[in-house]
Amino acid sequence: MSDCIFCKIISKEIPANVIYEDEKILAFHDLSPVAPQHVLIIPKVHIDNMNGITEESGEVVAHIFTKVKEISKQLGINDSGYRIVSNCGVEGGQTVGHLHFHLAGGRQMQWPPG
Ligand code: 5GP
Ligand code: ZN
Repeated sequence: MSDCIFCKIISKEIPANVIYEDEKILAFHDLSPVAPQHVLIIPKVHIDNMNGITEESGEVVAHIFTKVKEISKQLGINDSGYRIVSNCGVEGGQTVGHLHFHLAGGRQMQWPPG
């Protein structure tokens, strides 16, 4: 999608601090971290949000989750623990319309979320 910030990060039109990349997904540090470690993991294919996941595109979502262990180890939060969040839609708090999973850690997380 031409006007999507995250598609532009994928195509390197917008710079990002990338920590993991393969043919299907990208992980990079969030511009405004809410925790000592806060990265976004995204599929390279544009999917609007959770509501856009299909049987077919679900494969890349599964791929993201198989890589979380490795990425969290890279961030040094695998043992201490971490949280994965995907905000969907207006009331879910989604501000960027390209499916993304926040991976945050390095401090004690609270529940319930705001
Ligand atoms: P959402 O609010 O949609 O769940 O998450 C969007 C996230 O993207 C926010 O945490 C925001 O800080 C991050 N973000 C927005 N624009 C950029 C950008 O250009 N670069 C990076 N690295 N993060 C961004
Ligand atoms: Zn996009």
